[in-house]
Amino acid sequence: MSAPHALSRAAAVALATLALVVAPTTPVHGQESPGDLEAARSQLSEAQAALAQTYQRYGDAQRKHDRTQRAAQQARTRAEQTRGAAEAAAARVRGMRGDVDRFASASFRQGSTIGSISAYLGAESTTEMLERSSLLNAISDDQLSILDRMRTALEKRRSSQRQATAALREASQNERAAETAKAEAQRAFRAAKAKKQEAQSEIDRLSAATAQVSAAPGGAAKPAEGELTSTYGARWGTVHYGIDIANSIGTPIHSTLPGEVIDAGTASGFGMWVRVQHSDGLVSVYGHIDQATVSVGQQVGAGEQIATMGNRGQSTGPHLHFEIHENGNKIDPLPWLRSRGVDI
Ligand SMILES: [Zn+2]
Repeated sequence: MSAPHALSRAAAVALATLALVVAPTTPVHGQESPGDLEAARSQLSEAQAALAQTYQRYGDAQRKHDRTQRAAQQARTRAEQTRGAAEAAAARVRGMRGDVDRFASASFRQGSTIGSISAYLGAESTTEMLERSSLLNAISDDQLSILDRMRTALEKRRSSQRQATAALREASQNERAAETAKAEAQRAFRAAKAKKQEAQSEIDRLSAATAQVSAAPGGAAKPAEGELTSTYGARWGTVHYGIDIANSIGTPIHSTLPGEVIDAGTASGFGMWVRVQHSDGLVSVYGHIDQATVSVGQQVGAGEQIATMGNRGQSTGPHLHFEIHENGNKIDPLPWLRSRGVDI
């Protein structure tokens, strides 16, 4: 909640500083030191890092949701199948009972007064039924053992149906929980995006206000359009020496400055990459690309397409991994780009 206020204050101070520069004859009393644009930039960096994190979480939640949805669909299919199998088995047992009943009734009618065969058929098992009956010979052993086997099979099917129903219930619960988590992650992502945009527009205002004061070094081109999904710095127990910009496969990738292509092809970890040598000891690196559209030795201009976005190498989705090396040091590309008029 405090960030917008801090930014507004930073904006006000920067504009006041600008007013002093534009009108140097104005008396100066207790002026705050400049560097408010710097402060606003660090706010933007924080907002960008937060956005990248929520983007990762949103992606994780989405993948989990998809997994649980597939599991629930499989459980529904299984429950449907076992229900069908149990119903068919029950129908077969009912039919067999009817056969035995008719056969036995016919036999009893020939001289017995024992009564309805239903009493026997109500028995829990064939053995019990036989114990109750003195008319063992009236019903064939074969028929009885078939009926017993069918009853056992029916019981098995009912038990697997109960298991399938329980599994379905659990899968549906997981699915609902994942849906909730996904919705929450999505809300957090949207909020972080709004916050980043807010910080961005403050930067835009401040940059416009200070543009007249300090001329930015030679303009650079945006390496690719897309979502900033990872920033420079510690990540997953290691250091991420660049920034990630995610978009669909095939999105054009541009050289950020004019220079000479020094690599265009396979690279370990990045799958495929392009590297461009610029003046002042600068090298830009474009990793995980799908296709290089330039070749080694080629001269390229700022903003000229050099590759297409891909998902090669150790990559979890289509994105550009972008690095800036300054005299061999991998520096944070975001402030570097920003000082050359590129905001991502
Ligand atoms: Zn990366």
